[in-house]
Amino acid sequence: MELRELTTLGLGGPAGALVEARTDDEVVAAVRAADAAGEPLLVLGGGSNVVVADDGVPGTVLLVRTTGVSRDGDVVHVAAGEPWDAFLARCVEHGRAGIECLSGIPGSIGATPIQNVGAYGQEVAETIAGVRVWDRRAARIDELGPADCGFGYRTSSFKREPGRWVVLRVSFRLPHAELSGPIRYAELARELGVSVGAGAPLPAIRSAVLGLRAGKGMVLDPADPDTRSAGSFFTNPVLEADEFAALQARSADAPPGWPEPDGRVKTSAAWLIEHAGFHRGDGRPDGIAISTKHVLALTNRGQGSADELLALARRIATTVHDTFGVTLHPEPVFVNLPWPA
Ligand SMILES: Cc1cc2nc3c(=O)[nH]c(=O)nc-3n(C[C@H](O)[C@H](O)[C@H](O)COP(=O)(O)OP(=O)(O)OC[C@H]3O[C@@H](n4cnc5c(N)ncnc54)[C@H](O)[C@@H]3O)c2cc1C
Repeated sequence: MELRELTTLGLGGPAGALVEARTDDEVVAAVRAADAAGEPLLVLGGGSNVVVADDGVPGTVLLVRTTGVSRDGDVVHVAAGEPWDAFLARCVEHGRAGIECLSGIPGSIGATPIQNVGAYGQEVAETIAGVRVWDRRAARIDELGPADCGFGYRTSSFKREPGRWVVLRVSFRLPHAELSGPIRYAELARELGVSVGAGAPLPAIRSAVLGLRAGKGMVLDPADPDTRSAGSFFTNPVLEADEFAALQARSADAPPGWPEPDGRVKTSAAWLIEHAGFHRGDGRPDGIAISTKHVLALTNRGQGSADELLALARRIATTVHDTFGVTLHPEPVFVNLPWPA
């Protein structure tokens, strides 16, 4: 099977071997077999955060399709293969708070800790109580606490040591609450008609977030080619204070800047891309193009290739660097593809 059928970008050639695991034992057996044979292994959930090479991948592609949800007080344990948004919808329905701003993000539960998924002022790291993993280095099951996960902005220990851990189960601490915690994201607060810092009912947040995301092509929709993407292609650069001052000095317009607790400043990748001269919809109407709704999403509108996507991503990153001296880092994981060169 071509991996393009298993990725939201619709890109990727054949897998050496494809294994679908429905239980933790099957996951562990498949990983052990690949490791014993010294073969490469790609663990795949929903395929919504990967760019896979046109040549495909050698070795085993393991599709994690495990299921099961259980609860222990306010802590909910969820199998890695469960779909994230369906789980989130059930939490909102049952008044369990803490992840509602992450509505509409595609993919599996098991992938959420990998890049510490986040949106609209929330990150999964805020609610993750633990992660059960298969540690390939130690060849045993381990229970990682939040501190072991090394969460940061779109990063974690899992991202820093790629391939070491296979996530089997994620546990979330989700207390009952009628209202959410403080809304931190101004656009969402505006949409809800509340001030930043106020709470709001969970179902109202879910529907506001889904509406905002759909307007940006950020909710998967087979009828909308702008959603044939891997979400945001670049993370927002976090700059040292002097680097941000240098960016301000190089820009005619004032670049957005959000202070981080450690004194650094986060700026907007979308702003940098637009001010470096790229526009919504740039690219091939039937191939690789920037989304017509948002410059941060790169899309495959049907006939594109991973090589073409990589070329566009490199052109964007190089132009932003030449214009502003800022390095953009891709958010998706490149499989069998080189970055930056
Ligand atoms: C339209 C759209 C909108 C998006 N919006 C957001 C957003 O708002 N915020 C955000 O953070 N992300 C967003 N994303 C990116 C993506 O949905 C998330 O990163 C999601 O968590 C990926 O889940 P997945 O199961 O599809 O992972 P995959 O793409 O299958 O895998 C991603 C990475 O995780 C690894 N992985 C997957 N499962 C496991 C496992 N069980 N154990 C170990 N490693 C594993 C893979 O090997 C790979 O390295 C968006 C994507 C799309 C297409």
